[in-house]
Amino acid sequence: MACVSFPYDAPVSQTLFDRASLVTPGGVNSPVRAFRAVGGTPRFMVSGTGPYLTDADGREYVDLVCSWGPMILGHSHPEVIAAVQEAVARGTSFGTPGEGEVALAEEIVARVEPVEQVRLVSSGTEATMSAIRLARGFTGRAKIVKFAGCYHGHVDALLAAAGSGVATFGLPDTPGVTGAQAGDTIVVPYNDLDAVRAAFAAQPGEIACVITEASPGNMGVVPPLDGFNAGLKEICAANGALYISDEVMTGFRTSKAGWFGVDGVRPDLMTFGKVMGGGFPAAAFGGRADVMAHLAPVGPVYQAGTLSGNPVATAAGLAQLRLLDDAAYTKLDAVSAELRGLVSGALAKEGVAHTVQAASNMFSVFFTDRPVRDYEDAKRQEAFRFTAFFHSMLAQGVYLPPSAFESWFVSTAHDTRAVERIAAALPAAARAASEATA
Ligand code: PLP
Repeated sequence: MACVSFPYDAPVSQTLFDRASLVTPGGVNSPVRAFRAVGGTPRFMVSGTGPYLTDADGREYVDLVCSWGPMILGHSHPEVIAAVQEAVARGTSFGTPGEGEVALAEEIVARVEPVEQVRLVSSGTEATMSAIRLARGFTGRAKIVKFAGCYHGHVDALLAAAGSGVATFGLPDTPGVTGAQAGDTIVVPYNDLDAVRAAFAAQPGEIACVITEASPGNMGVVPPLDGFNAGLKEICAANGALYISDEVMTGFRTSKAGWFGVDGVRPDLMTFGKVMGGGFPAAAFGGRADVMAHLAPVGPVYQAGTLSGNPVATAAGLAQLRLLDDAAYTKLDAVSAELRGLVSGALAKEGVAHTVQAASNMFSVFFTDRPVRDYEDAKRQEAFRFTAFFHSMLAQGVYLPPSAFESWFVSTAHDTRAVERIAAALPAAARAASEATA
């Protein structure tokens, strides 16, 4: 941990955190919220409006986490809130099919051309878990290939060398995942097609699928090199395996059709979450109709969920997606580009070695001057500088992801005032980063 002081200016959050820590492990319901990588007290938020969050101590922050991606229109967007209020007034769960699910599925199919059929679930983890099971059921094979630094949720078989919280805490693997659960997972370096070819050569006829983040954001933003996703698709097709593109983070964020809308490489299966739920637990997996036909109740691969396609969640997701038109993506890209320039300018002025990497409007700052192409590169950054940078931004009212291994997220609500507040905080944060010691 870097030598950083934490001004004790969040007494209500501290009290809540103390209470939480008594009844919940680490005081949080998802590890990256705990500030363990950066130290200090996690801020307990009580409300969000547009690009701002307000914490329990009454302090306002410009939010560059956006609930880790979902809040692409900003917080409390009036049309999303109205759709939720209208849905909730009709009841919260029926355990039957409903029109909202059909409309959301139609919207996904209309936006993302490779998705011929889609099944709704409640979290990104459920989506990737189900897609892997389906790929195994469809191919009759057991092994899967994933990339070091890619995070696909906390699915047992996918926790090997994962990014996000697993990267943040440097966990080599997770107790509780048995050898049998992880033994069929082959982990290879990201952006390395030769390693994928070697894996297929070593296990002929045994690999069910390759799963990859469409453009990784869970080791920081590390876009695929030119031709990488196309190469994966080709290798899978040549070997009778499925190519699964995990768009839980990039889906409906990096373009109207997610990362598929950027690189046009056609996956066999895709997974979605975050943006499509409008801030509620909604996620999905979908793709080729002949593959999806293997799912119960038409096919033998079982998959189910009591709250799948929940009417309130689908109403929120649909309202959000319908507002995400071309103009929205143009705005997101412009805000992201402006912020990238401001951050880079401030760090350069203080002589701090850094690399800003972007995938459409997703971006992150690595504290190294070398390009980051895989997880090993990401780990070589001077993360202690991020700690100092983070706390300076927080103290000045800018809420960044509390980890050097995460994407920063913007929303269409990040207007000139919000950007100016971030710009005003950057010089001191860059200075703190330059003065930080390991
Ligand atoms: N896949 C990717 C690419 C993700 O970024 C995440 C979460 O961050 C997941 C899957 C898991 O989604 P969830 O947290 O909704 O289970």
